[in-house]
Order: sequence, then C-alpha cells, then structure tokens
Amino acid sequence: MSSIQLKNIVKKYGDGFPAVNDVSLDIADGEFMILVGPSGCGKSTLLRMVVGLEDITSGDLEINGKRVNDLAPRDRNLAMVFQNYALYPHLTVFENIAFPLRLSKGTHSEDEIQRKVREASKMLELDDHLDRKPGNLSGGQRQRVAMGRAIVREADAFLFDEPLSNLDAKLRGQMRTEIARMQRRLGITTIYVTHDQTEAMTLGDRVAVLKKGVLQQCASPRELYEQP
Ligand code: ADP
Ligand code: ADP
Repeated sequence: MSSIQLKNIVKKYGDGFPAVNDVSLDIADGEFMILVGPSGCGKSTLLRMVVGLEDITSGDLEINGKRVNDLAPRDRNLAMVFQNYALYPHLTVFENIAFPLRLSKGTHSEDEIQRKVREASKMLELDDHLDRKPGNLSGGQRQRVAMGRAIVREADAFLFDEPLSNLDAKLRGQMRTEIARMQRRLGITTIYVTHDQTEAMTLGDRVAVLKKGVLQQCASPRELYEQP
C-alpha cells in the first residue's frame, strides 16, 4: 500500500504545448482516484509518468514521500493494467497469472505461487478456467487474467488505463462491480483512467478532471456530479 504525490508535474513532448501542465495531486493510501477528461487531455501521459514509462519534464513524483522521478518502472512496484493487456497465448490462465511470480526467480516457493494464484483467481472468479488458454476466453475473462497478474504481484498501487472500454455493456457492468468489490476487499491505492461517468461515480473515492493537460477539479463523485 502506498500514497502517491504529484507535485507540479509537467510533461512536454518536443516543443509543443504541455500534454500535462502543472498537475498536483495527493493520492492517499488505499484511495481509488479516477482520472477523467476528453480524449487528448493527458490522462494516459499522466499514468505513464507515474508508472515510469514516460519521463517527467518537471515536477516531483513521490511514492510514500520518496521522490521516484528517476526510478525505473520495475523499482516502483506499481502494476499497470492496460486496455489490451498482452497475455501469453501459449500459457494457461494459471501460468499467465503466475508469470510475474516466476519472473522474480527464487523469491516464491511453488506452494506460495499455487496459493497466490488460486487466491487471486477465486477473487476474480477464474478458478474454473485455470487450465484454459487466453485464446478461448471471453474479453472479460482475459481482462480478469490481466488483473490477476497485478494482484499476485502485490503491487503498492494499481494503475488502470480504461480497462473496461473494450467490453460490451453487460460485461462492463459486471466488471465494474467486480473491481468495486475487489477494491473494498484489498483497499489498494488505485489510479483509474476512464471516459465512463458511471465508472467514475461507482468506483471513485475522488475524481480528478483534466482538460488540456490542466487539472480542473478534484472532488468526490457526489460533489462533482450532484452539483446544481
Ligand atoms: P488522453 O490519454 O487523455 O487521451 P494522452 O495523454 O494520450 O491523452 O495525450 C495528451 C497529449 O499529448 C495529446 O495532445 C497527444 O497528442 C500528446 N501525446 C501523447 N503521446 C505523445 C507522444 N508520444 N509524442 C507526442 N505527443 C504525444
Ligand atoms: P525487463 O525490463 O528486465 O526486460 P520487463 O519489461 O518484463 O523486464 O519488466 C520488469 C519489471 O518492470 C516488471 O516485473 C515490473 O515490475 C516492471 N514493469 C514493466 N512494465 C510494467 C508496467 N507496464 N507496469 C508496471 N510495471 C511494469
């Protein structure tokens, strides 16, 4: 678990207008922070800077009060769930979820891997599908496998980039409920990018609104959406 602080974060690509312009945000331990805003407002860029896939032009990014601007992604212990998370087609669901644990060689016993993967798959209702390959899964099931991977890593925080936008309405509703349940159970600090107001309202502790790279407001869903 961890808190994340963005202090006057700026991102410029080349000489252009800043994609992210002086954004400051305090994300508390266990908080579910939603990022919303029109296409091109800088949501993905912000997320990619937090996870370390994009350099920060200026400003400070802190995790638990420690500046991490110069830390490599692998040293930040954050788990990013992309919209089209690449699963390994030749591996079973079990092995896809276990993958991050097997990567960090020697630190996890086989018993531990079995236990962690089974726990995560139970939580995500994937326990009946552990022997299947991603190719035979529905989009929603594949999404859950990707989340399972993030869960077993016990990352300090989850970062989601429009994880449900490829799903049909019914599945999106189910997954939304699933994520809300998971969040209540795990209480993991989360930054979640979405276009969907229902997702923002039902999942977010707070919603940060970006426009042209600038943070417009940051408030609870109730404050934001029930304004007169
Ligand atoms: P969003 O996720 O809200 O749609 P992005 O963060 O993808 O917004 O983009 C913010 C702005 O930065 C846009 O104007 C986009 O064109 C620009 N941008 C994003 N990535 C790059 C890049 N790799 N090189 C140059 N400009 C980029
Ligand atoms: P390498 O960089 O050594 O080739 P990987 O690219 O597989 O290895 O990533 C190593 C580590 O970097 C992962 O275990 C993870 O901690 C971190 N990492 C890589 N990509 C991401 C991501 N998208 N989100 C979060 N962490 C990542």
